[in-house]
Amino acid sequence: MTTPNERLSQAETLQFLAAHANNPPYIPERDDSLDTMTPQACPKGVHADWAVDSEDTHTCPWCALDQARAESDKHRNERDELKKRVAELDRELGKTIDQRDRVEDVADQLAYAIAPAEAIGEHSSENDPWQNALDIVTPAAKVDELKKQVAALNDRLHDAAVTRSEPS
Ligand SMILES: [Zn+2]
Repeated sequence: MTTPNERLSQAETLQFLAAHANNPPYIPERDDSLDTMTPQACPKGVHADWAVDSEDTHTCPWCALDQARAESDKHRNERDELKKRVAELDRELGKTIDQRDRVEDVADQLAYAIAPAEAIGEHSSENDPWQNALDIVTPAAKVDELKKQVAALNDRLHDAAVTRSEPS
């Protein structure tokens, strides 16, 4: 680059200035800090349009965006899976509640077939009609068992009597 100095005449200087008035020449200034900069490009080599020369280390913003999108997709998928699982569990809970209600209805029918509500009461925090019905039924079951034992003993007595009366 030629700079105006004493070797140019005033006319030459004016001519130079006129020629470059609207399009001044680019004069890069020496900058020592340039030497400490590090040219950086997309480490995966995918985003060729990103390149930077900086004294700081940068991550490729497009790679960072891709990663953020992938994580967002992953989280969305996980959320969708969890929503499905919650709906499944809701359905299973509904089925279980229905089953429980049916079993309770059957247990009520059995309990009130054993004794009326006046005898065994209604369900409450202090009263269990099922247990009350069981308490009523248990002795009857024991009576049945005793009756069977008596019948078995009678059969053995009868057999013994028959054996004794037979001629030897
Ligand atoms: Zn990249």
